[in-house]
Amino acid sequence: MDDLVPHPRYRGKPPRSQLILTEQEVRGSYWRYGSAHIFPQTALRADLSVQRYAVFPRPYYVDMLKTCVECSRAFIFYAREQRDWYETRGFFIDVDCVRCVECRRKQRADKRHMERYSEFQARDSLSRKEMMHFVDDCIFLFQQGKLKNLSHLGRIKNAALKQIPEYAGTKTLQLLLQSARTIGEIS
Ligand SMILES: [Zn+2]
Repeated sequence: MDDLVPHPRYRGKPPRSQLILTEQEVRGSYWRYGSAHIFPQTALRADLSVQRYAVFPRPYYVDMLKTCVECSRAFIFYAREQRDWYETRGFFIDVDCVRCVECRRKQRADKRHMERYSEFQARDSLSRKEMMHFVDDCIFLFQQGKLKNLSHLGRIKNAALKQIPEYAGTKTLQLLLQSARTIGEIS
């Protein structure tokens, strides 16, 4: 259990549940617990009045050991985290947590960069500051393999060389494109 992806908010020993439930009671309370790796002693009682569910609510939250679909590392979907998801944030009760906290963060960062990139791309002109962000987004997305069109990126790099030649990101983008082209030529 030492190689679990740590969660910044819920790491450490869980507070012991105030409930005394058997493993069977926890498993039987919600369909997803039947075959899951759960820690019954961590069960928390849910507030069903605020859960969003179609047919079956989730009467208890319980720490679950899971494997991240992205990085394949083990992580715990904490009972307290579930309470946050299904009671505070209003997520539908059957929405499952399939990524570790690090991959979820990365996914959100990818999304932010992509949204900003798309917005800037559609504009006729950008301020210096926006151009810097645009270059940053291009670098990030290119390194993530999300942008592959080298000639399109080349045009952005040229615009950046004109507008913000002194910006370190401009140089980085230029070098990245150079090496990508070199690799393209030799492979
Ligand atoms: Zn992960």
